[in-house]
Amino acid sequence: MKLDILSIGDELLIGQTLNTNAYWISGQLNKIGFEIRQQLTVSDQEEAIITAVDTALKQVQVVLVTGGLGPTNDDLTMPVLNRYFGGKLVHNEEVYRDIEQLLLPRGYEMNENNRKQALVPDVCKPIRNQHGTAPGLWFERGDQVVVAMPGVPYEMKAMVTDMVIPWLKAKYQLPEIVHRMVYTQGIPEAKLAEMLAEWENALPESIKLAYLPSPGRVKLRLSSMGDNRETLQQAIEEQVERLRSLIGTSIYEAEEGAIAEAVGALLRSKQATLSTAESCTGGYIAHLITAVSGSSDYFKGAIVSYANEVKENELGVVLADLERFGAVSRQVVEQMAKGARERLKTDYAVATSGIAGPLGGTPEKPVGTVWMAVATPTGVVSELKVFGKQRKVNIERAAVTVLGMLRNELMKQ
Ligand code: ATP
Repeated sequence: MKLDILSIGDELLIGQTLNTNAYWISGQLNKIGFEIRQQLTVSDQEEAIITAVDTALKQVQVVLVTGGLGPTNDDLTMPVLNRYFGGKLVHNEEVYRDIEQLLLPRGYEMNENNRKQALVPDVCKPIRNQHGTAPGLWFERGDQVVVAMPGVPYEMKAMVTDMVIPWLKAKYQLPEIVHRMVYTQGIPEAKLAEMLAEWENALPESIKLAYLPSPGRVKLRLSSMGDNRETLQQAIEEQVERLRSLIGTSIYEAEEGAIAEAVGALLRSKQATLSTAESCTGGYIAHLITAVSGSSDYFKGAIVSYANEVKENELGVVLADLERFGAVSRQVVEQMAKGARERLKTDYAVATSGIAGPLGGTPEKPVGTVWMAVATPTGVVSELKVFGKQRKVNIERAAVTVLGMLRNELMKQ
């Protein structure tokens, strides 16, 4: 069952408004079994709207339109769809009352524009709008449906959730769609694809695989469509088990996909505590950890030691080592981790020291060079990475990588 999303509005095309409607609708409608064929954005012009709807209806069963439904002259969606479906505008008492009920308690009078909004094509079913004045419009032609909704996100969302989805479910027999995310960390995408090639080639046709990389992590999405949800889930879980036997230690479980969640769960299960000593990540690791609800159970705090004197005074890094090896070195990062662990009295501590860029690189230590360390109850481990040239990405990768190192240590001990 295929569906197109048509967003109408010049403000979308000039980059003034981010098209969050299409993103949100895609997620909701895919969940109930629609294949989203296309998202299209066009300007507020009759010809553009007609061409888009007409072309879409040659390919899909359902078109969901947002924007341009308001009462002003630049809002063309309603008159244009009315002409397209060959209707005429008639007063709709229920819509009129809805608008009145919305406006009168707020102290507004019904004006000409509001009265105009109660004129609805006689060839559609109006969709009541609880949060605004423009009703949505549900047009049917044979087994096809075109739905027009206001552009205002919260008005559109309420209509989709309360009416459009139930109505679509009643009209169409929709398949079940199951998406299963598997989160991996520590293996770059290209390497992962190589390691998984055989498994991927042996996947049943009904299961689709996607690689979704972000700094330091790769999400694998397994998707399947069919009649029975349980059968689909079972088939996917069988594949996840095979995956585990191939890259088990790189897979982490997390509801939202954040490695800090997985680390938090391990710390909690061990009743262990954590602190951070951060130079190039500037507190970003602490931010990732505290973004997880309940992190106060195991996280004590961070020392953001950007300057050498803070590394020395607050973390106890030896001045001679700072001078001899430089702040970005194994010796210093290990002392930072140990210093945080001792001074903040935690079981574990992580530390970073690196050159995030774009300035500050040297031939020996180019931009992207980062030392990371994890202090544990039994010692300290450290690792050197040379990431890329982009400051923000380097900070993210360093944070995720050191959390991955911590996770490995937690799983060992
Ligand atoms: P109303 O008359 O109730 O405003 P409308 O259908 O005329 O409804 P638009 O004028 O197209 O809506 O858009 C209203 C506001 O909704 C825009 O200013 C914008 O902030 C937001 N909006 C419109 N389209 C989108 C979209 N695709 N994604 C996110 N926001 C949107």
